[in-house]
Amino acid sequence: MDSIRIRCPKCNWEADGQPHWVCTCGHDWDTFSTGGRCPSCGKQWDDTQCVEKKIGGCQQFSPHLDWYENLDIIVDEVMEELKEKV
Ligand SMILES: [Zn+2]
Ligand SMILES: [Zn+2]
Repeated sequence: MDSIRIRCPKCNWEADGQPHWVCTCGHDWDTFSTGGRCPSCGKQWDDTQCVEKKIGGCQQFSPHLDWYENLDIIVDEVMEELKEKV
């Protein structure tokens, strides 16, 4: 499957795999490696904040799933496969 690009839906900053996100428990990690869940305390983050402006982001919160580009296409493909099976 093609790799999914992950980028901020508001400013198009692209996630670079670095641990930019800090949980309320103090743990920092790459939120996209765990689908928005803190690996330390297990808190699920439904919204993901963009990175600091000095790194190129906008610091605005967006729903975690909105960050995944082409997610609609993948969902459509899965739906098509399901239709074919029925
Ligand atoms: Zn945590
Ligand atoms: Zn942004």
